[in-house]
Amino acid sequence: MVTCTGCALLCDDIEIVVENGRIKEIRNACRRGTSRMKGCVNRLIPSIYQKPSDIDSAIRKAAEILKSAKSPMLFGFSNSTCEAQVRGIGLARKLNAMIDDTSSFCQGMLIEKVLQKKFRTCSLEDARNRADVLIYWGSDAQDSQPRHLSRFSYFPRGESRQRGYEEDRIAIAIDVRESNTAKICKGHFYRIPLKGDREFILALIDALSGKVPSYDTKKILELAGILKKAEFGMVFAGIGLTYSIKEDTGVLLTLGDLLPNFHIMPMVGHYNMRGFNESLFRETGFVNRVKFNGNVIHEDKYSILEILKEKRTDALLVIGADPLLSLPGTVVKHLSAIPVICIDPCTTLTSKIAAVTIPCAVSGVESDGTAVRMDGEVIKLSKVVENNYASDEIILNRLMEAV
Ligand code: SF4
Repeated sequence: MVTCTGCALLCDDIEIVVENGRIKEIRNACRRGTSRMKGCVNRLIPSIYQKPSDIDSAIRKAAEILKSAKSPMLFGFSNSTCEAQVRGIGLARKLNAMIDDTSSFCQGMLIEKVLQKKFRTCSLEDARNRADVLIYWGSDAQDSQPRHLSRFSYFPRGESRQRGYEEDRIAIAIDVRESNTAKICKGHFYRIPLKGDREFILALIDALSGKVPSYDTKKILELAGILKKAEFGMVFAGIGLTYSIKEDTGVLLTLGDLLPNFHIMPMVGHYNMRGFNESLFRETGFVNRVKFNGNVIHEDKYSILEILKEKRTDALLVIGADPLLSLPGTVVKHLSAIPVICIDPCTTLTSKIAAVTIPCAVSGVESDGTAVRMDGEVIKLSKVVENNYASDEIILNRLMEAV
C-alpha cells in the first residue's frame, strides 16, 4: 500500500502496479489522486534565465540570487514533505528571509487556533468511529477531498455507528451554493448568502441560547435542535467559512462553547499544508507570515499577498506552489520585476517566468518522506518508482550548503 498526495486526506490504502519502472495501474485512488500519481503533463527542466542548464549550475545560481538579495522571501511548501519544510525554515533563518505559505490566505487562521488548542478537535478515525452529526461548512469535500465522506465521515460503518449513513449519521451542508457535497446532504442543506456566515453563526448562537433568531427563524431553530441532540459532532470547516469570517474566530469560539460535543477540523486541500504550519509553529510559535532577523517577527505584512503588493521582496523562492496561477493579477505583477526561483516537479505558470528553475521528484511517488494529514496525523510517504530526480529535501539541503 502507498500513500496518495493528491490532497490532505493522504489516503494510505492505494495499490500501485509498477512495470518497467513506470506506474501501470493505480487502485483505490479517486480521480484527483490518480492524476497526481501519474505525475506531470510537462516535466520541469533545470534552467537559468530561460536557458536549459544542468541542475548543479541552477542550484548555484539560485544560491547566488538568494545570498545577494536584501529582502529574500521563501514561499510555498504546502506540497513539500515535512523534511523539506524543516530545511526550508532553516534556509529562511540562515538568509534572514521572510517565509510564508498558502495557508496565509486560506486555512492558516483556523489551523493556528487548533494548534493553540483553542478549538476541540479529534482524529479522522474518531470521526469515523463516533460522529453522528457532520457539518460540511463552506467545504465541498466531494470535489476537494473526494474520499472524505466514504473513508471517514458519512458512509463508513464506525465502532459506535454500525448503521452508518442509513440510520446513524446526519450530514449537513452550510454553503453559498448547492455543491456536490450539499447534494448528498439532501434535506440538510442550509444556503447562506455570500459572506453571510457570521450572521448565520450569530443566529445559531441565539437559537442555542434560547433566543428567537432574527434570521431564517424556522430553519435555524430546526438546525439548533439537531445540533443539541448530537452525541459526537463534527464541523468540517472549509475555505468558504474561513474566507467569510476572516480573522474573526471569536464567533466560532462562542459557538463551540455552546456545542460541547462538537469538534472542528479545518479542511485542508494541499497535501502537506498542515505539516508546514506545524513545523513553523514548533520553531516560531506561528503558522505563517514570519520574518527571521536573528529573532522571529510575525506580522500580517509578511504575508505573500502584502509583500508582493507592496513590492517588499527582491528575490522569491517558490517551492511546490504556483503564485502566478493562484494569486490576483494585481498582486503578482511584481514577480516580473524580481528574480524568481522555482522548485517543482512540473512546469507551472510561475516556472515560465522564473529566473531559475530546479526540477524535483514527485513526493510520495518518486521520493519518500512524511506528511501531516488534515487532522494532524503523521503519515509516511514511500518512493514507488526509481528515478533520477532529487527530492525537494535534497535540493533545499544543497541550497542551504551553497548560500
Ligand atoms: S481523497 Fe485525496 S488523498 Fe485520497 S485518493 Fe483522493 S486525492 Fe488522494
